[in-house]
Amino acid sequence: MKIVIAGGGIGGLATALALHERGFEVEVYEQSQEIRALGVGINLLPHAVGILAGLGLLDALAEVAVEAKEYVYANRHGQVILADARGREAGYAYPQYSIHRGELQMVLARAVRATLGEGAIRCGQRLSAFDADGPRARATFTDTRSRRETMVEADVLVACDGIHSAARALMCPDEGMPVWNGVTIWRGTSLGRPYMTGGSIVKAGNTRQKFIVYPISKPDPATGEVLLNWIADLHTPDRPYLTREDWNRPGRLEDFLPAFEDWKFPWLDVPSTIRAAKAVFEFPMVDRDPLAHWTRGRMTLLGDAAHPMYPIASNGATQAIMDARQLADSLAGFTDPAQGLADCESRRLPPTAAIVKMNRAQGPDVLLDQVEERAPGGFDRIEDVFPPAELAGILDRYKQAAGHQQSKTPRP
Ligand SMILES: Cc1cc2nc3c(=O)[nH]c(=O)nc-3n(C[C@H](O)[C@H](O)[C@H](O)COP(=O)(O)OP(=O)(O)OC[C@H]3O[C@@H](n4cnc5c(N)ncnc54)[C@H](O)[C@@H]3O)c2cc1C
Repeated sequence: MKIVIAGGGIGGLATALALHERGFEVEVYEQSQEIRALGVGINLLPHAVGILAGLGLLDALAEVAVEAKEYVYANRHGQVILADARGREAGYAYPQYSIHRGELQMVLARAVRATLGEGAIRCGQRLSAFDADGPRARATFTDTRSRRETMVEADVLVACDGIHSAARALMCPDEGMPVWNGVTIWRGTSLGRPYMTGGSIVKAGNTRQKFIVYPISKPDPATGEVLLNWIADLHTPDRPYLTREDWNRPGRLEDFLPAFEDWKFPWLDVPSTIRAAKAVFEFPMVDRDPLAHWTRGRMTLLGDAAHPMYPIASNGATQAIMDARQLADSLAGFTDPAQGLADCESRRLPPTAAIVKMNRAQGPDVLLDQVEERAPGGFDRIEDVFPPAELAGILDRYKQAAGHQQSKTPRP
């Protein structure tokens, strides 16, 4: 069976590897002229790392990623509300990795080229049309330089073309732009001193103003410094909506730094960290309503094309990788590709739609607001403000829904 993938991001490349492993012939078409290490930091939950480990990538990931040891919720004064052990520290079979998105994409791209062949990723090719209603899928790719169109036939077309998916727009022509919740996210990376465990992801503040920080590089042997990935979220409903959000859009310090000027924690000076960034990017917190179906004939959506969600609690890349694994397993499990696509959709659409909805309700971050309401000026002991079991309950409900339990089993 020949499968064509549109989009060589995290989801598309992971799908290519998983399908190849199951014996399918695969070609990837990517609109960019080349695969470059774009973006800033992301997190891969243990179940996604387990899937990539199964594809032979654990050593390559370990080389470029930082093992996350705990996820810390803190108030706007930097006081720790809850430290939730992560990855192997929490008994999972695989680590949770904090990693530069671009490094992850390069690890995947190198693996695709090494296993499927140098020509397996065709760059500068944008999916512009498809017809999937017949016995074969037909995808039209437009060369982004020459504008020449090529029609490619395959048994299945998998559209992994991100939040602005062309395939999704063709399938749902009335859907329009992603939905914004009034929050703007500024992202950057800065060199700084390691803090807490050296593998602590910290989310501080409340749902109107948050600062998230985690290391994405190992300490420099000469200086001891690490690359800190940070994200500053501000509720900015009066800002004009960015008409077309772009992961690489530059941001301006004056738009958000003043709000964080007094966030000087004993373990991190937030304004100095922000100022130390070489570049700052801004992005609106957007998602899309869950769809009733992802599949049309021999075409299916995957990753952000299928279920764009707010970047809360490390699910963007993780869920795309879970989709990739399931799609390959489902297609391998049926002789009729249509049945394989239906099987995959029935297993993956409900849980990802649930995460989209939970993230709209701020996921586990609601606990930040609840603590702030009870102790706006800070606390001496969190136990005096919030029973620890209640805090753990909020977090556990989200983790259950996001599939964390899947890698609690021993390694194969
Ligand atoms: C440049 C970039 C930077 C990002 N930075 C961050 C970040 O810092 N933090 C974060 O949380 N998330 C970031 N993301 C999003 C994150 O990668 C995804 O949420 C997640 O990994 C799911 O991956 P995906 O493959 O579904 O989508 P993506 O990783 O967005 O990949 C989609 C791919 O499809 C390609 N594409 C789009 N349209 C077409 C088309 N018509 N034909 C062919 N190819 C097409 C894109 O160029 C891209 O390579 C970024 C995405 C991109 C593209």
